[in-house]
Amino acid sequence: MSSSWEAPAPDLKDWTWVLDRPCPDCGTASGALDVEDLPSLLSVTAEAWHRVLARPGAAERPRPGTWSPLEYGAHVRDVHRVFDERLALVLGTDPGPARFANWDQDAAAVAGRYHEQDPAVVADELAEAAEEVAHRYAQVGPGDLARTGLRSNGSAFTLVSLGQYHLHDVVHHLHDVGSPVRDALPAAARTAPRTPAAPPAVATPGERA
Ligand SMILES: [Zn+2]
Repeated sequence: MSSSWEAPAPDLKDWTWVLDRPCPDCGTASGALDVEDLPSLLSVTAEAWHRVLARPGAAERPRPGTWSPLEYGAHVRDVHRVFDERLALVLGTDPGPARFANWDQDAAAVAGRYHEQDPAVVADELAEAAEEVAHRYAQVGPGDLARTGLRSNGSAFTLVSLGQYHLHDVVHHLHDVGSPVRDALPAAARTAPRTPAAPPAVATPGERA
């Protein structure tokens, strides 16, 4: 770690409220998303991240305390991996609920040295992870939708809300890095964002996934 690099302040908020009401920042009404929407939306978001990570200066933080596009991209890659594991657990646990650990995204950012990674490599890894989890969502049948999961901090999810929460995290961070994909969302899942998408408008590193 270089002496000029410091981890942003950890984000300790519980973001599960985004399932109940539209996110005022990115404008996504996550609760209106269907699981069958997710595979194509994950593909659209992966393409957007590819463009973000190809920008000159993707590894530079816009301001101290805010993640660079590279760090957000590495986070989103790992979000896809974490939610793929959670989804597999939820689908494979009978009877439910499946139990999974809370994920400390800020510790993951430090341990994974997000800021030192190669943006082009992260873009490819993100696309691959998005494709894998999209494939798993595509295999979800109607009888699976009421399956449940319990995060170790007590937050309860159904398979549907797990997917909604996952997709919001990815879309929200595209908003953070000035590359919103709002127009790709189903109309029912779109509300007006409170904050402009560009320049990046948040001072917190990410969302609690
Ligand atoms: Zn949001």
